[in-house]
Amino acid sequence: MLTIGRFAPSPTGPLHLGSLVAATASYLAARQVCGKWLLRIEDLDKPREQPGASDAIIHTLAAYGFEWDGDILYQSQRQEAYHAAIATLHAHTYPCTRSRKGLPTLPAIRLRTHDHPIGFNDKIQGEYCQRLSRDVGDFVLLRADGLFAYQLAVVVDDAFQGVNQVVRGADLLDNTPRQIWLQQLLGFAQPTYAHVPLVLNEHGQKLSKQTLAPAINTDQRLHTLVRALRLLRQPCPDAADFATLADCWHWAITHWNINAIRDTPPSD
Ligand code: GLU
Repeated sequence: MLTIGRFAPSPTGPLHLGSLVAATASYLAARQVCGKWLLRIEDLDKPREQPGASDAIIHTLAAYGFEWDGDILYQSQRQEAYHAAIATLHAHTYPCTRSRKGLPTLPAIRLRTHDHPIGFNDKIQGEYCQRLSRDVGDFVLLRADGLFAYQLAVVVDDAFQGVNQVVRGADLLDNTPRQIWLQQLLGFAQPTYAHVPLVLNEHGQKLSKQTLAPAINTDQRLHTLVRALRLLRQPCPDAADFATLADCWHWAITHWNINAIRDTPPSD
């Protein structure tokens, strides 16, 4: 079966080292098995979007030598598909008007959860299981402000694009049982999952816009790619050993070993 992986950044800020690491892992996992690799911009939440961030992310990925298959999918163009999914889920959802400010608003749409265990075998993190009603509770698919929730959109789009291999940051590990529950209700196949350890800053915080992670620059691409590969525990030669960025990618695609992430202890 053709492997289809993807990178699905939210354009809330420029690409930082943590997102480059996630992109690199998903790219290598797909390319090593001659699979496809798709790029999807998760621009669902316009108020949180940073102007120009989508283009900056795409530009940076291209400069680093990522080659995506087909057109970029933008979630902002997919509202009809999300509406259709909510209609399909009708028997499992309910409207919920819990207005924080006591103002009348449109209801949010929540999905009912149950207490059966939903588990999966993550290729890096191992067995992971939740009982959704206990661990998460009924969760929102369509927010009161009219925005579709990430959980719904990611499941609908992964299925629409035929994604069968999800490799992404470990901050999303605990979202996965919710996504599997949605896949089950919608009759979608379940992709394989691998959640790569997060890159932390010197304060032990996840690199993100909130922790003011610096944007990766495109001047030192080869050095930065080697750094990303080493953060993924790949025994990558020094940047000076590669003549070009393409040579480094060639090494990385040939030698990619996801088990090294799990088996090699973190080092400074
Ligand atoms: N858009 C999400 C983010 O940037 C990632 C979605 C995913 O990989 O499932 O955090």
